[in-house]
Amino acid sequence: MATFKEFRNNVKPNWCPGCGDFSVQAAIQRAAANSGLEPEQLAVISGIGCSGRISGYINAYGLHGIHGRSLPIAQGVKLANRDLTVIASGGDGDGFAIGMGHTIHAIRRNINMTYIVMDNQIYGLTKGQTSPRSSEGFKTKSTPEGSIETTLSPLEIALSAGATFVAQSFSSDLKQLTSLIEQGIQHEGFSLINVFSPCVTFNKVNTYDWFKENIVNLESVPDYDPTNRIQAMTKLMETNSMITGLIYQNKAKRSYENLVTGFKEQPLVHQDLTLSESDFDKL
Ligand code: SF4
Ligand code: MG
Repeated sequence: MATFKEFRNNVKPNWCPGCGDFSVQAAIQRAAANSGLEPEQLAVISGIGCSGRISGYINAYGLHGIHGRSLPIAQGVKLANRDLTVIASGGDGDGFAIGMGHTIHAIRRNINMTYIVMDNQIYGLTKGQTSPRSSEGFKTKSTPEGSIETTLSPLEIALSAGATFVAQSFSSDLKQLTSLIEQGIQHEGFSLINVFSPCVTFNKVNTYDWFKENIVNLESVPDYDPTNRIQAMTKLMETNSMITGLIYQNKAKRSYENLVTGFKEQPLVHQDLTLSESDFDKL
């Protein structure tokens, strides 16, 4: 069985020292090892942004795609070879701005894979512009007088779209984050894990200290029931989405692969898809 070190490669991340994305990378590697995976059983598909580089830093199959398109690629990988454990990853700009249409439909499609968003509430790679997750009043080069747009709450949208697994964590809490990724991998359907992952270079408001002061860990909330969708939505609204832990899980809904006709026998990658002349007659 592979150890988490076997999910490392020799590529040195070029993230800024202190960037939250380092811990997300470590958590994915630990969760993969704890799940009993070998590197050749894992595929990490990423979009564009600082966080999008993560697929190049993990010893597994990987593809660094285009902006906002990690999910179409990752879903295709999973449907072609469902024996793979597939993780899609990227930032809040990637997944909740240009890629939001894909995010909503991947959630409601419920293919068995995990989507990890590194949410730093800013565009880091392009040197600090307002993202859909930036707070109102947030000043950047693109909003010098402060953002006047409403901050997006992607986890509320996910619950509305029929999500079967919604979790949130903080890159400083490696233990919780690793555990949630393991649970996401085990979940039979689409798991969304949003991770507060501070950008230490361009976001001087939502810092590590700011998150520590504002996060409410669901483990400290008595009687919180992650199978209760209404309670999950209420808690997100009450806390301005600042909760961490397993927010909602629906184990009853079957994954897309289990419902689509003719998909059960074996992965496409193992099927002979060569057409014979009689196949053409049927067209
Ligand atoms: Fe991380 Fe921000 Fe540096 Fe990008 S710019 S690597 S998000 S700290
Ligand atoms: Mg971002």
